[in-house]
Amino acid sequence: MSEEMSAFRGVTRRDFLKYCTWLAGVMGLGEAGMARVASALEAAARRPSVVWSSFQVCTGCAIQLLQAREPTVQNLILQQISLDYQDNVMAAAGSAAEEVLRQVTEGEDFYWVVEGSVATGIPGAMTVAGRTSMEVVDELYPKANATIAMGSCAAYGNIQAARPNPTGAKGIAAYLREDGGVADPVVVNLPRCPGHGDDLIATLTYALVNGELPELDAVGRPVFLYGQTIHDTCFRRGHFEAGRFVERFGDESTGDRDWCLYKVGCKGPVTYAPCGRNLWNGNVSWCVNNAPCQGCAEPDFWDELTPFYDQVRGGDLPGLYGVTAEQIGIGLGIATAAGLAAHGVGTAIRSRRTTRAGEPGRREGGEL
Ligand code: SF4
Ligand code: SF4
Repeated sequence: MSEEMSAFRGVTRRDFLKYCTWLAGVMGLGEAGMARVASALEAAARRPSVVWSSFQVCTGCAIQLLQAREPTVQNLILQQISLDYQDNVMAAAGSAAEEVLRQVTEGEDFYWVVEGSVATGIPGAMTVAGRTSMEVVDELYPKANATIAMGSCAAYGNIQAARPNPTGAKGIAAYLREDGGVADPVVVNLPRCPGHGDDLIATLTYALVNGELPELDAVGRPVFLYGQTIHDTCFRRGHFEAGRFVERFGDESTGDRDWCLYKVGCKGPVTYAPCGRNLWNGNVSWCVNNAPCQGCAEPDFWDELTPFYDQVRGGDLPGLYGVTAEQIGIGLGIATAAGLAAHGVGTAIRSRRTTRAGEPGRREGGEL
């Protein structure tokens, strides 16, 4: 296949189709969906305009996007969207940057991506061009085709919202709901810390292919991406089921054995995120390779799922029917544990939340 056959500069046809196959898989469209994704991307009359705002944040989400999986895919990403305004890395500065923002957002045909939390307690803790994060949300949320909270800060407030939360940090949706503001805001949450560029591209592609935003779960995450727990896709899962747990870091159960990290604080069984399928660092590694999942895709994980290296509170997992990890380890045996895996863990944990079935995943009246 020749280079020229790709619709995107610097991306071979082979890489393009590989990428489309990955996207179709993530979107649950299967092999047949690859052609649908490819033709939607190739036929797109123009790239969706994206405005990216940064609030209270470490900028890790933007860095992660700009260091996307491989150079060819990075090209694809930057050619697939028109990143018209980005606080940190755009060439324009000062009033010229503000003019770009004004022009793009006046057109009212853009996706608004936000990283970072809204400072509601000390509004001045976060300003861009003299405007607080609350003022920016008030202006851009009603104008945008869709609002996407990139990373755990924009989604739920993240670490800066940890008790006592001096700046009053909140996620976008929580701020919009504040004081009876917007009753049911539509914000697509893509939590992880940092947010993953592949999640953003998959969400935008989903909207392009289907003409609407994806179905969201009860805490605003796309079900097609966040419908499984870390535990569901974990390569250590067999050891969990067999009752083989790391007891302490550095003991004989660690090293190459890949035993389960539940007892040293893994929050994978209660965390919904695609990390086990959608890896990091050039798609080669993720947290659970070396450390327990900290649950960073879950609301309030900083208060509710800490201490980080302690077993999930309550002694046993929701859905384990009162059976603790210790009991699995001392002889309930593989059959029982396998039964739990097959019938209990995922199902019962999933029942903690409800899907907003039937509710449109887009702002009323908004066009994509
Ligand atoms: S508890 Fe953590 S390490 Fe163990 S199988 Fe589940 S996700 Fe993997
Ligand atoms: S594995 Fe857990 S801690 Fe790591 S990014 Fe995913 S959800 Fe967050």
